[in-house]
Parts: sequence; C-alpha cells; structure tokens
Amino acid sequence: MRWHLLIGCAVLCSITGGGTCGQDALQTHTVLLITIDGLRWQEVFHGAEQGLMDRDAGGVREPDQVRDRFWAESPQERRRRLMPFFWDVIASKGQILGDPSHDFHMRCTNGLYFSYPGYHELLCGFSDAQINSNQKRNNPNQTVLEWLHRRPGFAGRVAAFTSWDVFPFILNRRRSAIYVNAGWQPLEVFRDPAERVPWNSMAAEIPRYWAGVRYDAFTQKGALEYWHVRQPRLLYVALGEPDDWAHAGRYDLYLDATQRCDHYLRQWWDAIQSQRDHTTLIVTTDHGRGDGREGWKSHGKQFAGSDRIWMAVVGPDTPPLGLRKKGTASQSQVAATVASLLGENFPATDARIAPALPGVLDDQRP
Ligand SMILES: [Zn+2]
Repeated sequence: MRWHLLIGCAVLCSITGGGTCGQDALQTHTVLLITIDGLRWQEVFHGAEQGLMDRDAGGVREPDQVRDRFWAESPQERRRRLMPFFWDVIASKGQILGDPSHDFHMRCTNGLYFSYPGYHELLCGFSDAQINSNQKRNNPNQTVLEWLHRRPGFAGRVAAFTSWDVFPFILNRRRSAIYVNAGWQPLEVFRDPAERVPWNSMAAEIPRYWAGVRYDAFTQKGALEYWHVRQPRLLYVALGEPDDWAHAGRYDLYLDATQRCDHYLRQWWDAIQSQRDHTTLIVTTDHGRGDGREGWKSHGKQFAGSDRIWMAVVGPDTPPLGLRKKGTASQSQVAATVASLLGENFPATDARIAPALPGVLDDQRP
C-alpha cells in the first residue's frame, strides 16, 4: 500500500521538482537527532576495552570498580552493560549501522576527523575544505536544520541544545535564526518555571572542567524541557562529554559519560512513547578516534581509524533490521536522511549533498 503511494509521490516529485513529497506516506512527524561526540565504534560494538581499564593506559582511578561495572567476557554482553538501551531497544526495534565485524563500514569523508568538519559533513551533507578548524567561525554553508527551518511547517520548530559552545557558529545561529542553546548558556524553557533558578544556579556554582563544554546533564535537561514545552519538529541534541573525558585520558569517566548518554536515550524514548509516537530517533557521532594505549585519547588524520563512525535509528518508518550487515554509509548521508524522514528532499537543493541512507526508510529496503 505504502509502496504505491511512494511511487506516486516519486512521480509527482520528479514533475514538481521536490517539495513536501512523501509527507502523506510517512508516519514520522518529528525527528530527534542526537550526537555523542567522539564515542568510538570500538566501545559501541564491543563495550569496554580490557587493555584500557587500568591506571597507566586509561587513567582509571578505581580499576576494580570499573571492571565490576563494565567488564564481561563476551563483546555482546560488554556492549550491553555499557549501553543497555542502545542494545536492548534500538537493536531490536530499529537499526544499527557501522559494525565492521559484520562488514558494514560507515565513515567520515572530510579527511580531517575532528569536530567542526565532522558536524559540518553530518549537518550540511558534504565536506568543505574551508572548514578546517574548530574555531568559532560562522558556517558559510546551510545545515539541514537551517534549510528545514525555512520550509513550510518548520518555522520556529527547529532547535538545538548542545554541550559545546561552537555550535552557534556551526549552525550559524545569526543567519539561520534557529533556537540554539549551547555551552554554559543558561537554560530558559521549563515545564515547571520554578525549576529555572535552581538548575541555572547549579550550573553557575559547580566547578567547570571545560570552559567551552557544559556537562551533558544540563544539555539533556534543557533539551527535554524544551521538547515538552515547544514541541519542535526537528530537535538536535549534541552531547559532548565522552570526547572530552577521552582527551583528558580518563577512560573511567569516558565510560561513565557514555553510559549516561545511553540513559539519556532511554529518557528520550520514554518521552517519545508517552507524548508522540510519530518521532524518529537518530543517534550518531562526529568522528572516530585512534586505537591502542595512547591512540584512544585522540583523533584526526594522524590517528588511524578516526574516520570510522556508527549510527543508530529507530522510528515508525524504519524497518527493524537490527544490526545492519554488509554495506557502506558515509557521514554526509545523515543530513538527507533527516530531511527525507520529514518528507523533504535536501539533496535537490545542492548537487554536493549526499543522498539519504538506503534502508532507513521503508521504501528503500536494501
Ligand atoms: Zn575531540
């Protein structure tokens, strides 16, 4: 049934040159895009790495406690201990892409493998050689958030909550006029207005380990409240702690932050179930990292494996294929995938934009 609708729509689309095609056939009304900065595929697919759960290589303060929490003999059980929601719920109801041991390879194509170029590729759908640093420079290109924000039905309904304070520039807040709450910026929107002062006082009073990255707990709280109050159609939540704890050489805190991110995914799942089941959740990352006792802390073109990433998706239009096998995907395909789930054709606007990922929408079964 839906197959026929989509064929009809595709014909119409080719005649009209795009538009809100697919919207009638799709059940997705809202997309929740979440990134976990610098979370390695190694932990996503294999769980905690034995050789890093010590003082020397991993900077782990209490190795016995960390092993008790995260270690198990089989990689399947280890990854479930680290990310129980990811492996219990998304893996059974959605799709997980990027496991090299099942011959699925998902990569960044920007050649630099650090944050701004990664988020640019992810959100704009292509790489741009001008984007070659993490400096706070306004993005000359349009992200899928900015483009959608100008489409009918999306004005004022696209927003971002980010731990890192460079996102107002990546999303070009000034030009795009998207609501972006980033870094240690106070949280503004709460279901219960009485929560505003205690949350912002807490953020102002606790020690700040990083000047430019707030703890993910604040980003998550702000995003959840905004979601309930403003009901955006595209909400982007950029979590940041795993990358920064890894740079700090603290494998214990990296694992801890990763498990917290998984808990946040479960909070989103509960919010989606109780409020609106027409939401597709996409989770991915900006880059991989290196390997080995030193390499895990860093990333970039000098650290082999930094190009390799992963992605998860679950929603009403996505066939529950579980762990995807035998295939390739690139970071640049995420932007068009987000748009296509909302019935919009982003690649039609610019020849540089990569196509949506095959198999994520019902009509594109591999
Ligand atoms: Zn980093």
